[in-house]
Amino acid sequence: MDFLKLSIIQAIDEASEELEELSKDIWRNPELCFMEHYAHEKLTNFLERKGFVVTKKFILETGFKAEVGTTKMGPNIAVICEYDALPVIGHACGHNLIAEAGVAAGLGIKAALGKMEKPFGRITVLGTPAEEGGGGKIDMINAGVFDNIDIAMMVHPSPETSSHCSSTAIDRAPNRQELDQLKDKMRCCFDSAAIGTGCQV
Ligand SMILES: [Zn+2]
Repeated sequence: MDFLKLSIIQAIDEASEELEELSKDIWRNPELCFMEHYAHEKLTNFLERKGFVVTKKFILETGFKAEVGTTKMGPNIAVICEYDALPVIGHACGHNLIAEAGVAAGLGIKAALGKMEKPFGRITVLGTPAEEGGGGKIDMINAGVFDNIDIAMMVHPSPETSSHCSSTAIDRAPNRQELDQLKDKMRCCFDSAAIGTGCQV
């Protein structure tokens, strides 16, 4: 598994300058919920350049999906990007970083999939508009976008470290049996996050 981990690290390291510029570009051009046209264009063009099959304006005007791989032999892993800003204070919530991290994770997982002996699984980078008050993910859930996704994950920047899962899905789940074990582990992560925040899974 180490060679897969290495390919992930390499792919992200190689793109680090471009990723940073992508994030700063979005930060310099803040857009409110459902109006993230600039970020949508930048992110989808970037992912296209990196070899993803991109669907622009997916479900929503500023939504997108970018895919690589097949679900015939493995899971569909979604990494979520947010990229909307707040009125007056711009990207104070750091959604430009969520976009950067989502794209970076997508690049890493794509690289790992490319190293597998046989086709295994799909990586879907999902652009979900309007987290700041618009609820773009709700529209996407209602449209069935998550129905064929096995695992969805994203990060949100914070000054503190909070609940997280330190595993890498593709690293931990080379087959169906181990995927089931991974699901159990992730279920525990979600349960602990829910307990910590007073929510229900
Ligand atoms: Zn936020």
